[in-house]
Amino acid sequence: MAILPFAAAAIGALYRERRLSAARVKEVQAAKLRFLLEHARTHTNLGKARIGISALPPLDAIPPITKSELMERFSDSLTDPTIGLAEVEDFVRDRSDFGRLLRGRYVAATTSGTTGKVGYFLTDARSFARQNGALFARILRHRLIPREVIRFCFGRRYRMAMTIAIDGRYISRLVGGFSPRLSRLLIQMRLFSIMADRQETIRALNRYRPHYLHGYPTYLETLAHAQLQGDLHLQPEFISLGSEPVSALAKATLQKAFPMSEISETYGATECLVMANQCRLGQLHVNEDFCVLEPVDEQGRPVPPGTQSAKVLVTNLENLAQPLYRYELPDSVTLLPGPCECGAGLTRIRVEGRTDDTFYLSDAVGRFQAHPPLPFETLFLNLPGLAQYQLVHEAQNQLKIRFVREPDADLGPIGLELARRFTAYLEQNALGSTVRYQVEPVERIEREPTSHKIRQVWSKVPRPGLYA
Ligand SMILES: [Zn+2]
Repeated sequence: MAILPFAAAAIGALYRERRLSAARVKEVQAAKLRFLLEHARTHTNLGKARIGISALPPLDAIPPITKSELMERFSDSLTDPTIGLAEVEDFVRDRSDFGRLLRGRYVAATTSGTTGKVGYFLTDARSFARQNGALFARILRHRLIPREVIRFCFGRRYRMAMTIAIDGRYISRLVGGFSPRLSRLLIQMRLFSIMADRQETIRALNRYRPHYLHGYPTYLETLAHAQLQGDLHLQPEFISLGSEPVSALAKATLQKAFPMSEISETYGATECLVMANQCRLGQLHVNEDFCVLEPVDEQGRPVPPGTQSAKVLVTNLENLAQPLYRYELPDSVTLLPGPCECGAGLTRIRVEGRTDDTFYLSDAVGRFQAHPPLPFETLFLNLPGLAQYQLVHEAQNQLKIRFVREPDADLGPIGLELARRFTAYLEQNALGSTVRYQVEPVERIEREPTSHKIRQVWSKVPRPGLYA
């Protein structure tokens, strides 16, 4: 019965933000943290090694852990060490039934691995339901009042549309597939693949007319483009953005295309679904009763409020199957000082914007098409010998595909395969005759001097006038 932990976490989340002071929320967080660390060192080999068995140390005395370190000690990180990485990899490869649980008990999720190593993460079904409940409550927070809910109680269900990657056990796919039977009385959920033909998706969305639209900011930006062009006719009440940081430009474009919609940012990860959500005043609040976020510099030292971090250490206070504490995420966030006027006693943060761009390419009749980074990124996946890449929109309709090979790999086959994939992609989008590309092997790809990130999908071309 997934509905019970889902509802309990949702009600708890609403109660704590509406009724508890900042100090009381911190007490709840501290109690849950003690429980998690005790649980981890009693039930996992990795916990015993990292936390120790004498007096419980403060969180910041426990060494942080990266994704590759965690993957190397995968079984040791689980409360059931008989589960190996190979078994999870096999399970994740099978895409026939996304509702199936590993060994009948665990939700298994993977990261897409477009940058760096692929990660695999297990959550027990109860913790997963609780995290979904918390997410639901913290996204829709101020809308979860009787007057709003009652509108959908008499057969008129709330239509939710998720535009996401649906071809793998990615966290947003698993959240989209999570619908306890009881909630289906009130909510209708439909998934739309970001890899599907864009025009078909636009037609399907026009027919579905969602009240709620969720997606990656860069993909929703392309839907905003379709709306401004007059192809899409949606009036969602609520738009939530997830899985990527939101650029100011993406937000402004969405506001222009959907002026009647409330646009809400979410900050979560495969490793911890509920890190921060936006309040009615547009401020992003950390879900401190479900996680601990520590913004740190390059050396792992805490950064004060107002300073941009180099990375974030996250502790997921819900997941008991694979306890994750002081787990390193490559995100840059800034803690904001002072309370928020919305009244919630939860710390505010800002998540620094994504460095990848949407490309605006024009077809044979001169119409602009918006292409988000994600489908491009998938063209670089599973390519033997490829170590790193960068896609640049150099001048209107001229792309440069730069790549670094693995040591000892042959350049020729990588270049040919990239050319084959890009030709197919462009032809599929009716851009075969208008967009030119050049494949260029390079020694290294430079990082951005300020963010230290690689601009993997980078446009040097101004956006079309539609947005003026
Ligand atoms: Zn607020």
